[in-house]
Amino acid sequence: MRKIDLELSELKFTASVYANTPAILDHIKVSGTLPDRWTYQQKLASARSLLAERGQKPVLNPDENLVLDTILHERRLPAGAIIPERESASYTLDKPVHFSLIDTHRRAYPKNIVMEKSEIPVVAETVRRILSLHRKGEMIDPWLEFPQHMCSFSFHKKGSRNKKLGVPVGALMVLWHQDDRFTLRCPRCGQKAYGIAFGGLLSVGGIFFVCVGCNTCWFHQLGGLGKMVGILKNSPLNQTRFRPRGCGYGGGYGSDGTTLLKILGITELAERV
Ligand SMILES: [Zn+2]
Repeated sequence: MRKIDLELSELKFTASVYANTPAILDHIKVSGTLPDRWTYQQKLASARSLLAERGQKPVLNPDENLVLDTILHERRLPAGAIIPERESASYTLDKPVHFSLIDTHRRAYPKNIVMEKSEIPVVAETVRRILSLHRKGEMIDPWLEFPQHMCSFSFHKKGSRNKKLGVPVGALMVLWHQDDRFTLRCPRCGQKAYGIAFGGLLSVGGIFFVCVGCNTCWFHQLGGLGKMVGILKNSPLNQTRFRPRGCGYGGGYGSDGTTLLKILGITELAERV
C-alpha cells in the first residue's frame, strides 16, 4: 500500500465523502473499524457535489467526525484519498493508501473528542506501574480491579461470589496489547494513552483514556452503549476468560482499586490527591 502526505483539510474532505457513502459509514458504525478493502463495486458519494455544496473545507457533522476519527486512528484510507482542487474539480486516488499528516497531531485530532482538563496522576501511575511490571515479566493477580468507576461492563472470576467485578487488570492487558482501539496517542503531549473504562448511554458512549506521559484523562466518543457492546464482541477480549459478563447503561461497575494500589505501592500518592 503506498503512502502519501495529506493536509488535515484534505483528510476532512475525504472523511465527508466516505461518510456520505452508506456502505463505509455503516461498516464503521457496526464494527468501529474501516472496511479492510474497498471493492469499488459500490460507488463513492460524489465528491464534486459535496465540493459544490460545502466547499473545500467542510465543517464536519457527527457522522463525518466519527469517520475522521476512525481514519486518524487506523492511518489508512481503503478507498483512497479524495483531494479537492480549486472550485470544480476533485481528484481521487482510487487505490488504498496509508497517509502521514502534514499538520501536527494536535491540530489533527478531531473536534468530537472531549478533553477534560483534570489530570489524574494516580490513574496514570497505576497504568505505568502495571506496564512496568509486565515488561519485567513480574506477575500480579490479573483479577485485581483497576481503580475506576466509569465502566458500563462487569466481569466475573470463575468461582468468585462477586459476579459484578469492576474491570480487572487482566482484561485491560488484553485490550492494551491485542486491540488497538484501546490505545491512542495523547492529543496533548503525543505520548501513549490507554483505555481504562468503557461504556455509555443510548447515544453517547466510548472509551475513557489516560495518558502515561502527561496524566490527562479524557473520554473518546465512539457511539452509544450498543456500539460499545459491538466493539467488545469483536475484540480479542471476548475470546478470553476476562470477557465482560454483564453491562448496564452508564457507569456502574467500578472499584477504588485499593488492593491493586497497595500492591503497586502507590497508596501514598493516592492519599495526597
Ligand atoms: Zn499526554
